Amino acid sequence: MIHIKGLHKSYITGNNSLHVLKGIDLTIAPGEFVSIMGSSGSGKSTLLNILGILDNYDNGDYRLDGNLIAKMSEKKAAAFRNQLIGFVFQSFNLISFKNALENVALPLYYQQVSRRKRNLIAMEYLDRMGLAEWAHHMPNELSGGQKQRVAIARALISKPKVILADEPTGALDTQTSYEVMDILKEVNEQGITILIVTHEHDIAAMTNRIIRLRDGVIAEDIRNGEVKKMKELAFAAAN
Ligand code: ADP
Ligand code: MG
Repeated sequence: MIHIKGLHKSYITGNNSLHVLKGIDLTIAPGEFVSIMGSSGSGKSTLLNILGILDNYDNGDYRLDGNLIAKMSEKKAAAFRNQLIGFVFQSFNLISFKNALENVALPLYYQQVSRRKRNLIAMEYLDRMGLAEWAHHMPNELSGGQKQRVAIARALISKPKVILADEPTGALDTQTSYEVMDILKEVNEQGITILIVTHEHDIAAMTNRIIRLRDGVIAEDIRNGEVKKMKELAFAAAN
């Protein structure tokens, strides 16, 4: 689903250049549930933004679902994003003056789906998130967990192949974080590839593969069985 080879990215501000990604090689198969960890400033968001075609890279290549993602017009990037990617953010990024239903329906508005039809579909997705009764509430009337469920419904409505989530539980308490992770796990089990950025070990341990960024490269890439083993060790240590 995601093939990255020799990816480099620098930010240039004034006379300074900051080399953030220094040769990332990464393959993620369809249906994987992956977390990306690393200390603050290690380039997690930079990588996720490149994967989401929200930012360009300098060198290397990136293929998404077989398509070479290189410098392209904003129009073409938007078309790929709409077709392939759903985004979930730490701060939810809901539109404050639109209710939950309208927020979920928004991607369909951009696809020129009629209001009646998009509201009907949005209601189905809200219902799947257990939020049908909250459809006509504004974001400021929802709890953090409810807001993130609205955001997940919005990410799913355009039937993406990949969900990219930058610290999706970063603004939530532990209990709510686990609930949101359970929802993402269910979404993953329906076949959608999921990448989340997190700096919380217990959250990362709920995914099937943990990738750690350090000094601009992938320093660690731990898979399923090993993740389970780590969970068991953590459990044994805590009991
Ligand atoms: P993380 O998400 O792992 O905390 P980021 O990818 O946000 O890290 O940032 C990596 C580095 O790049 C940091 O030093 C950050 O200050 C810098 N950086 C991020 N975005 C920009 C930008 N748009 N312009 C200049 N520097 C940036
Ligand atoms: Mg970040």
